[in-house]
Amino acid sequence: MSSGIRFDRVSVAYDGTTVLDTLDLTVRPGEVMALLGPSGSGKTTALRAVAGFVRPASGRVFIGDRDVTDLPPHRRGIGMVVQQYALFPHMRVDANVAFGLKARKTPKSETAERVAEALETTGMAAYARRYPRELSGGQQQRVAIARALAIRPDVLLLDEPLSALDAQLRSGMLAELARLHRELPDVSVLYVTHDQVEALTLADRIAVMDRARLQDCGTPQELYRRPRTEFTASFVGNANLLPVKVGSGAVTFAGRELSVATGDAAPGAHATLCVRPHLVGLGDGPNALRGRIAEVQWRGATHRLYADVDGHRVIADLRELRQPPDLGDDVTLHFAPRDAVLLAAGVTGAQGRR
Ligand code: ADP
Repeated sequence: MSSGIRFDRVSVAYDGTTVLDTLDLTVRPGEVMALLGPSGSGKTTALRAVAGFVRPASGRVFIGDRDVTDLPPHRRGIGMVVQQYALFPHMRVDANVAFGLKARKTPKSETAERVAEALETTGMAAYARRYPRELSGGQQQRVAIARALAIRPDVLLLDEPLSALDAQLRSGMLAELARLHRELPDVSVLYVTHDQVEALTLADRIAVMDRARLQDCGTPQELYRRPRTEFTASFVGNANLLPVKVGSGAVTFAGRELSVATGDAAPGAHATLCVRPHLVGLGDGPNALRGRIAEVQWRGATHRLYADVDGHRVIADLRELRQPPDLGDDVTLHFAPRDAVLLAAGVTGAQGRR
């Protein structure tokens, strides 16, 4: 049986300051949910509320059907991995991995079996008799993951597990974590990160946090293609955010009418139009914008053009551009109506997507 996680209007405050504000969020059984947001947005606090290391000022936390809000951490059935590995330096790898089982008074033979299994799963079987100081950072983090898995948790909490690793190791571990989840499809995972690549790569769904609040929640594709808020649009991928005035079936930007789906946005309202830079084309086309090149960056696979359109900066990422324009050139940029998303002004919170 696998269990999900549910935050039911969970708020946490430190010294009278709310750092997690009425969080409503469900992690489905077997799902990987990333909590993505800038530093200080309340992600770790949310994770610690599930672990039992912080007590909500209000609201309840559920693991499966169980209300665990009043349970101590060791009775919640969770495995947890944090950024700094937190292995016991004086214990060998196998003793580290056995730690949670011992604390639970698991019989010796079963402990040995589960330690072997967890080390096998994480590819660390050959290192059982080493001390943490004899391992690389990536290996230590694997041991920390093995330790979290050894208790066969329903729920795995990962708090920036890759941020202490260098870039190359990080991408290797990312693939490892994805494989691990395929092998353990019943474990629900809450994954705290400020790195959008980690969230986009690993998560089934992403919960976007900012300033103590859930801003948006959806699959990586939903958030990328149809962000609801300016914050999501700019935090998940790059975005042109153009200030526009809503008309009917069209918007006005810099004195030009652009045809885009306006949904239920009120005519006359001010709003923001989100267009991803890689969906902006060079030359004439639908929704053409005339501008002047302010900067050209070569990025290997693409050229990034920065154009000034009536005082607004519009970015275009272009592939296969044989003859990039020069600084100061007048250019026409365009985008397809279906590639633009209208973000209503003042939309915050994640109503409607959960
Ligand atoms: P994130 O994980 O998104 O970086 P945190 O949940 O760690 O954010 O922190 C949210 C806010 O709560 C921050 O402003 C942080 O300084 C504050 N905070 C976290 N832990 C404590 C604590 N033990 N005491 C006081 N303030 C804290």
